[in-house]
Amino acid sequence: MRNILCNVINPISANEAAFLPRQIITIQDGVITSVRPDDGRTACEDYSDKIALPGFIDLHVHLSQYMMRGLYEPALLPWLNKHVFPEEARSAEADYASNLAQLFFNALCSVGTTMSVIYTAPFPTACKTAFEQADAMGIRALIGMTMMDKNSPDELLQNTNDSLQQSIELYNRWHSKNPMLDYIFTPRFAPTCSMELMQEVARFADNNNAWVQTHLSENTDELSWVKELFGLSSYTEVYHKAGLLRPKSIFAHAIHLSPQELVLLKEHDAKIAHCPDSNFYLKSGEYPLQLIMDAGIRFGLGSDVGAGTSLNMLHHTKMMNFRQSSLAVLPTNALYHITLGSAKLLGMDDKIGSITRGKEADIVFLSPPAGYSIGEQSLSQLVFFGSEFKVMETMVAGKSLYIA
Ligand SMILES: [Zn+2]
Repeated sequence: MRNILCNVINPISANEAAFLPRQIITIQDGVITSVRPDDGRTACEDYSDKIALPGFIDLHVHLSQYMMRGLYEPALLPWLNKHVFPEEARSAEADYASNLAQLFFNALCSVGTTMSVIYTAPFPTACKTAFEQADAMGIRALIGMTMMDKNSPDELLQNTNDSLQQSIELYNRWHSKNPMLDYIFTPRFAPTCSMELMQEVARFADNNNAWVQTHLSENTDELSWVKELFGLSSYTEVYHKAGLLRPKSIFAHAIHLSPQELVLLKEHDAKIAHCPDSNFYLKSGEYPLQLIMDAGIRFGLGSDVGAGTSLNMLHHTKMMNFRQSSLAVLPTNALYHITLGSAKLLGMDDKIGSITRGKEADIVFLSPPAGYSIGEQSLSQLVFFGSEFKVMETMVAGKSLYIA
C-alpha cells in the first residue's frame, strides 16, 4: 500500500478540471482506494512539491517510427517513401524490433504516457516482440501490426491472406492474455490496402467486437490518390464501403472532410485521433475542430510519432491550441483530450482517465520548473509548457514504471 501526499489536477469534462491541493492518494493492489485532503496524521510519502495527473493517453503512435523522428520531407507521400518505409523495413529483424520496443516503452513512461494505441511495422515478429516487451514491463496499450497489401515497397508488401491470418493469430494470442493489453487491427491507410483486405478486417472485427485503426484524409495529394484508386465520392466513403466505419474504429487525422463525411463518421460513432503536431510538421492542413465538435464526433489527441516530433502529450496539448488559427483551445479542454476524454472514447473510463477512487492507479507525478509554485495556474502552465515540468514518477496500475 502507498499513501502519497501531493497536489491533484483532475479532468472532469471538456470544460472543467479540478485543482485539489494537498491530497492523500492511497493505492492498494494497483487501485486508487481513496483521494482525500491531508489530515496531518496519516504517514505519507511526501510528494507535496509535486502535481499528480492521470497518466496520459496517446491515441495514435507508430512504435516502428520512433527512431526516425525529425527526418523531414514536407509532405506525407514523399516523407513515407523517403524516411518511413526504409525505417520500418529495419524492424523485419527481430533483435532490432525488440530493442526498439524496449526503448520506445521506456520513453513513453519517461514522459508520463500510461496508455497508448500503437502501430508496429508490417511484420508479425515486430508486433509480437512489442507485445512481449509490453507484457513483461507492465505497459497498458492497444497494439497492432500495420497491414499493407498494395502500392507498397517490396520489403513491406504483404500478401492479402497472410496479412489477415497473421493479424488474426496476433489477435488470438493477445486478446485476452493480459487485461492491460489488447490487439487492434491496423490497415495502414486506404492507398496501401485492397478493398478485400479492409472488408475482411471489418468482418472479423465486427464478429469479435475488436478494435481497428487506420488513417483518414490527412493530405490533399493522398486524397487525390484515393480518388484515383477507388473512384468513390470521398475518402470516408471508401472506409464506409469497406465496413470500417464503426464505434471501435479510430481514424487518425481526419482533416479534409466534407459535410457528408462528418455525417457518416457521426452516424457510425467512429472515433478520431487528432494529431496537431504531425499535421503542422507535414503541412497536412488544419484539423476542423469546430466542425468536429459541432458534429459531435468523439476524438482524442495522438502524438503520431514519427511525424509527431515528441512522445510528450504535454507538447501535443500546446499544439492542439497552436494549430487552430482562430479557435482558442482552453487548458481544461486540452487536458481532457489526453486523459478522461480519450479513456471514455476507448470505453476504459471505469479504469483510467482520472485520479478517482476505484480506478486503477495510472498516475504521473510532475515537478514544476524552479521558482514556479503549484496552484490553480498550474494546469494552464502544464498545457502550454508542460515539457519543462519534470516527470518524477509514472505508474501504471500502481506499478512504478519510471522514477526520475
Ligand atoms: Zn500515423
